[in-house]
Amino acid sequence: MPSATGWRRLDIAIVGGGVGGLAAAISLRRAGHVVTIYERAEFAGEVGASISCAANGTRWLHEWGVDVSKGDPVVLRQLINRDWKTGEPVNVFDLSDYEEKWGYVYNMFHRQHMHAMLMSCATQEAGEGVPAKLIVNHKCSTIELDTGTITFENGVTAQHDAVVGADGIGSSVRTIIGITPEKKPASSSCLHANVDTATAVKLGLVDYSKDGAIEYWGGQNSVDKIVLSPCNGGSLLSYYCFFPREKGDYANQNWNSEATVDELVAPYPELDSRVLNHLKIGTDVKPWRLWVHEPYPWWQKGVVCIMGDAAHPMMPDQSQGACMAIEDAACLGIVFGRKHFSGDVREALGLYEAVRKPRATKVQAASARARENINERIGFSSNTTNSLYKVKDEKNKLTIEEMNSYDMYLDVAERVGIMGDSVTARL
Ligand SMILES: Cc1cc2nc3c(=O)[nH]c(=O)nc-3n(C[C@H](O)[C@H](O)[C@H](O)COP(=O)(O)OP(=O)(O)OC[C@H]3O[C@@H](n4cnc5c(N)ncnc54)[C@H](O)[C@@H]3O)c2cc1C
Repeated sequence: MPSATGWRRLDIAIVGGGVGGLAAAISLRRAGHVVTIYERAEFAGEVGASISCAANGTRWLHEWGVDVSKGDPVVLRQLINRDWKTGEPVNVFDLSDYEEKWGYVYNMFHRQHMHAMLMSCATQEAGEGVPAKLIVNHKCSTIELDTGTITFENGVTAQHDAVVGADGIGSSVRTIIGITPEKKPASSSCLHANVDTATAVKLGLVDYSKDGAIEYWGGQNSVDKIVLSPCNGGSLLSYYCFFPREKGDYANQNWNSEATVDELVAPYPELDSRVLNHLKIGTDVKPWRLWVHEPYPWWQKGVVCIMGDAAHPMMPDQSQGACMAIEDAACLGIVFGRKHFSGDVREALGLYEAVRKPRATKVQAASARARENINERIGFSSNTTNSLYKVKDEKNKLTIEEMNSYDMYLDVAERVGIMGDSVTARL
């Protein structure tokens, strides 16, 4: 066991160059460490769809000095829930005072833009700390948990002081730290499609980009739900279309699989024709695999930890997957920062798990509830006077206050106190 000798600069490996891995690279670079990202693919990239970043994620982008304009976001002004058949709004959550209330805006990015924005911030010369190194075509196959020695499928080995597994829902690092997920395919399927706003308008269809909103059809006590997110400054509409798995099972497909427009519209004979006409001109129709994972018993072992979807994959219905990965990254930066890092990597990873697991697990559970009940969704969960409002457990619902007022610095400091007390009590 290394002795705790005070803050020291670490040489940290991140396995996986997705949103979580890149955010961790920025956060750990800012905390003074040397970071290498190993990505299995030939090119670390992202798929063509939207990704939302609420204030609890946006705040860290600003804190790290990420140039958010590079992500070309749509700043959201409202959440609109529409009636499945008529398309009339049945519940609206107004976000016009969002920045004033929470200090940061609610961004909707295109995933490729968000990824490129994080990548340039992590690897560029400009900004505090040593630029992170990105090494592609390195698929992690084993790690020695005590020494941080990684072996890649191409035969290369590398040794680091700490290893962060940011390798997504199918994580190898998770298996390496001894976790076998308890998982099952979700009861819903999801197909994603893009609609070009200009094409829709040319055809005389509704210009939904004008609303600056995430728009939902259905979702009231039903897995059937259409989610529309505008991105690329509004020029692209990203549609997530959910339906019961019996109507089409994509649980074992990957993002490279193709689906057709016929498959996309088939489950929705009664859907509001205005949005159905959008789906009929959808392009890049692809399945999103939906798997329900029970929370894992631990997130770290030796000098290795997991984060993001590798640690807490969740249903997409709170739009918090990326934000939770960003929060994990922020926490790693704090526990390895000058204030808290004593020099003992294992202790810092224990603190990271103690801080992040309760919050991410709560969001994971709330995302599963929101899969079948849109009233559980952050924002709508505050519209208690709406005639359709109903949640499973009023005391346990996830609220916008809880998400956006959260003070991670305080949480870490308090947890350090609790962990310190329990160590003192044992002595
Ligand atoms: C339908 C749907 C909609 C969503 N919408 C939103 C949204 O609006 N807002 C939001 O916040 N979140 C959303 N999410 C969730 C969000 O996409 C994820 O939570 C987020 O991308 C997690 O990032 P990650 O870096 O942990 O994993 P990933 O993005 O999966 O990245 C993992 C990376 O690791 C690499 N990798 C994998 N294995 C290895 C290995 N062995 N060695 C080296 N590299 C490896 C992969 O190639 C990949 O680049 C959505 C998810 C779904 C399913």
